Amino acid sequence: MEKSRIEVRNPATSEKIAELAPATAEEVARAVSRGRQAQPLWERQGFGGRAKLLYRYRDLLIDRLDEIADTLAAETGRPLAEVYANELFYLCDAIGFWAKNAARFLKPERLRPHLLKTKKVVSGYEPLGVIGIISPWNFPLVLTIGEAIPALMAGNAVVIKPSELTPLTPLLAARLAEEAGFPPALLQVLAGFGAAGESLIDGADMVSFTGSVETGRKVARRAAERLIPVTLELGGKDPMIVLRDADLERAANACVWGALMNSGQVCTSIERVYVEEPVYENFVERVVAKVKALRQGGSRDEVELGSMTSEVQLAKVESQVREAVAKGARVLTGGRRRPDHPGLYYEPTVMVDVHHGMQVLQEETFGPVIPIMKVKDRDEAVRFANSSRYGLDSSVFTRDPKGAWEIAGEIQAGAVCINDSLVNFIIPEAPMGGIKESGLGRRHGAEGIRKYCRQKTIVADRLGLKSEFAWFPTTSRKRDFFRRALRLLFRSGWRNKLSAPKPTRR
Ligand code: NAD
Repeated sequence: MEKSRIEVRNPATSEKIAELAPATAEEVARAVSRGRQAQPLWERQGFGGRAKLLYRYRDLLIDRLDEIADTLAAETGRPLAEVYANELFYLCDAIGFWAKNAARFLKPERLRPHLLKTKKVVSGYEPLGVIGIISPWNFPLVLTIGEAIPALMAGNAVVIKPSELTPLTPLLAARLAEEAGFPPALLQVLAGFGAAGESLIDGADMVSFTGSVETGRKVARRAAERLIPVTLELGGKDPMIVLRDADLERAANACVWGALMNSGQVCTSIERVYVEEPVYENFVERVVAKVKALRQGGSRDEVELGSMTSEVQLAKVESQVREAVAKGARVLTGGRRRPDHPGLYYEPTVMVDVHHGMQVLQEETFGPVIPIMKVKDRDEAVRFANSSRYGLDSSVFTRDPKGAWEIAGEIQAGAVCINDSLVNFIIPEAPMGGIKESGLGRRHGAEGIRKYCRQKTIVADRLGLKSEFAWFPTTSRKRDFFRRALRLLFRSGWRNKLSAPKPTRR
């Protein structure tokens, strides 16, 4: 049973900061229908008109930076420094990126048929109509408005159903969009629980979902009933591999940041670390020292870590650590909820003596925990890295560029960072998304905007003959022609010019 009210709490203090009514099914349907009415005019504004408005929106976001940052920090418990550096910087950069590049990605393409030279072929992209965006709580701006920007630039209207834990920032951002001059109903945010998400799937023309694997499956099933396209950006259990020749200082710094940024509540957080035996002790010592030096506190404090955002998630972290310890893991630092804070603070944690019989190496943790495992060589590291139902992101640290690229080729994940961590997400040119149970579809790059379009191909005849050879009537002459043509064109051998693949150079 879903609750009748959405209570938004500051997770750093547990204090209630807002109470909202969740959108009903009728309200969601109405929002979709208003979006559908607003969309054609928006599409007609063209890329230039749309970009102009988005730049105006960005100016307003910059004017109101502090108000947005405070709202976001209050509902997530994150340090303000992180909110400016990650959420707001990403969003403002994304606006410029899509405003500049949308037209290039969606430019109609002239295709040259290899056989039917008498036809002109052009393939282009049209907006789908109303895009439904369903988002989690860990990045309330990046994964709502950030996801909406390419959809808008493609000429769509957007309805967002943010997480019930963090609706205030996206609601504020949508109000600012109207203030910036967006047509009414072009970008709408409706607070609600899962049921509102379901109603959105029932009305939208496409759904872009970010969240857990479990909910992702439900979203895909519901979208399948209507045969609407859906992209699923789901969970991860991202591995980091540290080889014996790695720059250990850089690797340790990348590990601590990549695992603990946003208290580890990042889909692409480093969630398990495999270190080659000869450098294992050295690496662990460095990581532990760095984690012990981290400061945890309120949003306005000069700290690296804030609170976690979700009570349910914190309970999951506690349970995974408890299970690992019961099975023999050693906690080198952290390992418990902060007793001195009323909020959702979990100490940044480093664990060793972990193995794959523990949830902490199998299930997504989504919290500030770094489990480190010793491996005998690079092959074992790759084998462990790939022994997961997830495949979102990954990283490998070594001073051997050739070896690094080889491992990158072997790792089963949507992305691999060499001597780096998490960085692929903030490169909007780089397609990002998962394989295996980490999801379907990509954000960023050409696919990050084409997914919001239907592709239309136009084939035009250029000769204007009264009839074509393949049309009626059927004759024995035509039959013999095709019989001969099949033999001539497709039998392997020197004559086979059309079907043989051209040699490609790697
Ligand atoms: P969640 O799956 O519980 O909820 C996500 C959203 O779906 C929420 O808005 C929720 O209200 C809505 N929802 C719930 N049930 C629904 C239903 N039946 N139909 C439609 N919508 C429904 O996820 P969460 O706990 O909010 O977020 C954490 C998860 O998100 C983690 O697993 C994390 O890895 C994942 N995530 C993935 C990415 C990525 O890009 N791959 C990014 C961030 C977070």
